[in-house]
Amino acid sequence: MVATQTFRAPEYAYDPLRRRIQFIDSVNTVTKRYYLDGNQVVDERDAGANRQRYYVWGNYIDELLMFNDDADDDSDYVVCHDQLYSAQALLAKTDGSIAERYDYDAYGKPMIYTATGAGGWWDGNETSAAASAKDLPYLFTGREFDPLDGAALKLQYSRARYYSFNLRRWLQRDSIGYVDGMSLYEYVKSRPTQSLDPSGLLKSYCGCTNAEKKILKADALRAKQSIEILLGDIERAIAADIGEYPAFTGMKLSRAKSILECATGKLDSLGSKCEQTGGQCGAATNAWVNWIFATRIHICPKYFSPSRSPSNRSRTLIHEATHACGTFDGKRSPDFGTIIGWHDNAYTYGWWVDNHFCIPGYDCPE
Ligand SMILES: [Zn+2]
Repeated sequence: MVATQTFRAPEYAYDPLRRRIQFIDSVNTVTKRYYLDGNQVVDERDAGANRQRYYVWGNYIDELLMFNDDADDDSDYVVCHDQLYSAQALLAKTDGSIAERYDYDAYGKPMIYTATGAGGWWDGNETSAAASAKDLPYLFTGREFDPLDGAALKLQYSRARYYSFNLRRWLQRDSIGYVDGMSLYEYVKSRPTQSLDPSGLLKSYCGCTNAEKKILKADALRAKQSIEILLGDIERAIAADIGEYPAFTGMKLSRAKSILECATGKLDSLGSKCEQTGGQCGAATNAWVNWIFATRIHICPKYFSPSRSPSNRSRTLIHEATHACGTFDGKRSPDFGTIIGWHDNAYTYGWWVDNHFCIPGYDCPE
């Protein structure tokens, strides 16, 4: 007699940008169709295109803030996560009660607790399950957890590659080559408690050290105080009927005012991420943002260089924050008076931090 068993592999589908748009688990007969906003899944539907879940994301690419596990509004959950953006607990939005909690081993294998123990949560006796009863898919580092084969096999979808919690390595070679080291399968240089790899291509550190965070906090506060002073200067100029900067026709102070007001808001809402030199952090770069699409200011090592003064650092933050409000780079536009004026120039706003309300080369020394 021969026992037969049918093995069925999961099926995936990707769009032309190689983003995953469909996942079929034929063992559990689950089909998930993903609707994306950029690189984030915002809506998840079944094979019949009925909405199953939708997601609300924060600043970081894998920072899940909230999700709803069906189409109505009464089953919203708030996700608490740690510094790696790994989900730690799920809170019911209605009363803040804990719905589920999660733990991980160092390499991210999730332990999922679906009900409290006799002594409450964190008593060590919680009910564990192979998969989230609330169907939260975003667990370790905020990446997608795929329980396959009745959750006997646990994989993580990290965009370019799949990661195995059991093998503690990637299942595919790194498609960008030896950038992270000589092993094409090694996960974040074997530093899984301090590093992230949201793209599946390149490891990144999880933000800033405590010392760096302290500096950034003080710098952001100083930047906001500088903006307040500058706004006062502008208000006074406007009140004195200097609606346009003398000699520069069409350069409205009201525009400068709105840019600075926007930048203050950005300094509150933009997260900061400390990075290593590489990519857009060249040796000469202090910081960078994804222009008006910025969700965070990327802080490069040079930012913390001891030769830079605190006001110099604040100047960088204001410069980057105004980029997030739509300003361009460059010292002065060649056509100063026509298309791109000083008020659309991130350099000028940064300049004002050290040199007060003036235009470099016009009423301030260059
Ligand atoms: Zn710039």
